[in-house]
Amino acid sequence: MKNGINEVYSYLKQFKELYGCDVIIDLDKSSNSYYQKNAIYNKKKSINSFENEINHCQKCYIAHDRTNFVFGTGDPDADLFIVGEAPGRQEDLHGVPFIGQAGKLLDKILSAIGKSRKKGVYIANILKCRPPKNRDPLQSEIDECIPYLKQQINTIKPKLILALGKVAAKVLINSDVILKEMRNTTYIYENIPLRITYHPAALLRNTNLKKPTWEDFKYVKKYLDQV
Ligand code: URA
Repeated sequence: MKNGINEVYSYLKQFKELYGCDVIIDLDKSSNSYYQKNAIYNKKKSINSFENEINHCQKCYIAHDRTNFVFGTGDPDADLFIVGEAPGRQEDLHGVPFIGQAGKLLDKILSAIGKSRKKGVYIANILKCRPPKNRDPLQSEIDECIPYLKQQINTIKPKLILALGKVAAKVLINSDVILKEMRNTTYIYENIPLRITYHPAALLRNTNLKKPTWEDFKYVKKYLDQV
């Protein structure tokens, strides 16, 4: 042990002679970033292995018709976890959530608040398989699939969940009022604050919804900037 300390001492002495400055080691900072990197690595590993564990799921009828299981995508260290309803045609074909027209709009809104799937956001749906002709999810399908979403949320541990549209919101807050009345309230889901806004597909159909949706995303940004 003493030898080790002597070696460090002579190394530092040599370093000072060579570079002519004091050496400052910020132990707190270096250990923090080590633990942070480790935690992100572990989240990434857990989320990937969970995907491999469930992506052959055949628990309900719609699994038989799918092209791809749409697990979820994004930053494993996300602050914001976005929940949609179910994969559509494009998502089923490619195995990635929100990649059609609605998804493109969602990406634009996220970029306007300085976020993206690569940095700060994870996206998944209530259902991982596409319902035929994009019909609403059945309660039996939701019951089979919801434990998957819960586990994703518990692995990512986001600071905020944002539900898009009435179907996702209704499942997560267990209430059946109109979406307008669900907004502007903070709910709790799996011990994490949850907000609700319109589905981007609804914005494509009704541009009047863009303004209130933008207000909701501004709230999301403000909230995440201060937690
Ligand atoms: N709509 C959703 O709710 N989810 C998707 O992945 C695509 C469209």
